Amino acid sequence: MTGPMVDALVDVMLPDGRRVDVTLRDGRISAIADHQQAVSTPAADRHVVYCGGALLLPAFVDGHCHLDKTFWGTPWRPHRASGSLRERIAHERELRARIGVPVTTRATALAEHMVSLGTGHVRSHVDIDPDVKLDGLHQLLEVREALRDKLSIQLVAFPQSGVVTAPGVPDLLDAALAAGADLIGGLDPAGFDGDVDGQLDVVFGLAERHGAGIDIHLHDGGDLGIRQLHAIAERTKTLGLSGKVTVSHAYCLGQVSDVSVDRTATALAGAGVSLMTNGPAGTMPPVLRLRDNGVRVFAGSDNIRDAWWSYGTGDMLERATIIGLEGGLMTDEELGYAASLVTDSAAAALGLADYGLAPGNRADLVVIAAANPAEAVAGHPERLLVVHDGRVVSRKTVRHADNSKAW
Ligand SMILES: [Zn+2]
Repeated sequence: MTGPMVDALVDVMLPDGRRVDVTLRDGRISAIADHQQAVSTPAADRHVVYCGGALLLPAFVDGHCHLDKTFWGTPWRPHRASGSLRERIAHERELRARIGVPVTTRATALAEHMVSLGTGHVRSHVDIDPDVKLDGLHQLLEVREALRDKLSIQLVAFPQSGVVTAPGVPDLLDAALAAGADLIGGLDPAGFDGDVDGQLDVVFGLAERHGAGIDIHLHDGGDLGIRQLHAIAERTKTLGLSGKVTVSHAYCLGQVSDVSVDRTATALAGAGVSLMTNGPAGTMPPVLRLRDNGVRVFAGSDNIRDAWWSYGTGDMLERATIIGLEGGLMTDEELGYAASLVTDSAAAALGLADYGLAPGNRADLVVIAAANPAEAVAGHPERLLVVHDGRVVSRKTVRHADNSKAW
């Protein structure tokens, strides 16, 4: 269920400090004009929301999460620390089998929560392995369809148990892309599969065959990770896939010298490979340095309350806060950059069409109790109104019928 169609947002603050009135029509922004102080009574059939000078941003983009893994909406489960990556994968499998709540229920609960926090677009990875096969994908395809009026969802076929070391996975990934997954994933080609070319041959081969994008989890550290970033950049360039390839995490960039970061950033920027970070303590890539080298960086939640990670709220402004803290972002300009990681940069990395605050673009919007993007990132304050495709999908305390300050 979605709320009413909105005809106009009156008195919102744009990121550049202009106070404007925004007119919406047929799910799009039709006009943005300077705010008119004079109060005119709207026609009875027009749905006008007075926003009292609150900040307007395009709806947030969560560029990396795992909707199939979350335990959101189920009772709290203590985290069990365990050893190797393979042991943790086995533990997760056992826990998910015992939980007794379907993926559709848990994923929907989390997705609805994300919507209430102003997220309009999500890229979710979904496990494809010899055990679950395409089960998780089919369930997330169902969730995507059920929530299509509130949230757009991209799905990445994610080989959680490896590509070349897990029997039958290349065929399962092929089937996943045929069944509706938008992108092909990967997982530590060296550290997990021990075969960089073997995994990348499958991943890039399937991407080419299906015309799909690529989003590879890369946790491998130091020079081992750096070498794989160069290999990915090289393949991306050779195959002309600029703008369609993401590396998620790339902790290695937070562990090597500035010289190595700059050299690798040049290769990634030249190839059009984007980087996703969730702001991990101690291993976050140096986001400002990457920006200055022309690399498109964007943000995602990654794991939210699941077998891997107890934390997470799905709040993309809070994610921008976490990245800002970890990256030492302090000035308004730098905090504005943090905001772009969950809006414009993420939208560009995900290839979202018609995104942003301009006439003709999609009316996927969030009104925030802040005066500017810097304040929004610093305090991740309340989301007053969330609009998707021109309709209200979440509303807090925005008042009607007068234009007094609403927050
Ligand atoms: Zn992930």
